[in-house]
Amino acid sequence: MSLLIDIREPGWLREQDLRETLSPLLPGVSIYCENAEGHEAEITMLATVKLYPGVVGGLPNLKLVQKLGAGVDGILKDSTLPENVRVCRLKPDAPAEEIAEYCLAYVLQTQRNIRFHADNASQGIWHQVPPKKRARTTIGILGLGHIGGRTARTFASLGFPVMGWSRTQKQIDGITCLAGIELLPTLLKKSDYVISILPSTPETRHLFDIGMFEHMRSGAVLVNAGRGDLIDEQALLLALDRGNLAGAVLDVFVSEPLPGEHPFWTHPKITVTPHVSGWHLDGAFEDIAENYRRLHSGAPLLHQVDRQAGY
Ligand code: NDP
Repeated sequence: MSLLIDIREPGWLREQDLRETLSPLLPGVSIYCENAEGHEAEITMLATVKLYPGVVGGLPNLKLVQKLGAGVDGILKDSTLPENVRVCRLKPDAPAEEIAEYCLAYVLQTQRNIRFHADNASQGIWHQVPPKKRARTTIGILGLGHIGGRTARTFASLGFPVMGWSRTQKQIDGITCLAGIELLPTLLKKSDYVISILPSTPETRHLFDIGMFEHMRSGAVLVNAGRGDLIDEQALLLALDRGNLAGAVLDVFVSEPLPGEHPFWTHPKITVTPHVSGWHLDGAFEDIAENYRRLHSGAPLLHQVDRQAGY
């Protein structure tokens, strides 16, 4: 029974650093980094960002894949992952706060016409355009889970009217909660900003096709911090041209890194950020160690993913 850490993301959390953090929490446990050459049969838990080719097939006794983050779509899509291997994710506060902050930053940028005033200032132009009122700006949040719920409460606490949408009905103080696909158009018709923090699942992929964009308000802005494949990218370009919505702020894409020739880079109504809205994992490391202990004691795991539902 051993743990393998496999992170190959330059500039992010380093395997050795994670091992140093986990070692005192798991005394006596062998923790391998990147590969466990010669000890593959010992590995029962894999802590990883994604399933790199060939890794799962080389671990005959793997029982748990612990995603070092929230989105598990890439892991669940991997056909080499045996059905009996459980998958868990993390739910630290840090990235939830960061994503709420990201959404707030881009909403306030538009509310306060920050780019417009900066462009004018650079040319010495004095042109007064009033800020938009919070109380008259409806925020629609798609996904009311760990991150979406935090984001919805952040906007509500600042006095924005907030509508939220999820798969199952929620009750959150100060937020109008809707559930189910048939009520999504209701939210879209009323929202000045539509913020998606949905996972990528068979139900959410290409949810935003041209028909869905037609329900949006012509002045609305779409912010996507969930997963890129929520949006049919060609449909978004068409919807922006037709004026179904006014703009989009995108942190996630079907293909990442976004290819250099992709039209989103230069589109005047699209803001691109390179998947940075949620970053830090502070506060999550105890849960990785706890899941190792629970896996071996037979206790229920923390934040286990429903492999059928896809999140
Ligand atoms: P949660 O699992 O806590 O919440 C997911 C929410 O989406 C739930 O409210 C769920 O509904 C809702 N949902 C799922 N499927 C549907 C559907 N078909 N229709 C309507 N609502 C649906 O996840 P998190 O909030 O922690 O994370 C959400 C996603 O954000 C992650 O899966 C990941 O892809 C992305 N992410 C992006 C990051 C970035 O840096 N850009 C960083 C971290 C995460 P219900 O409550 O009814 O189950």
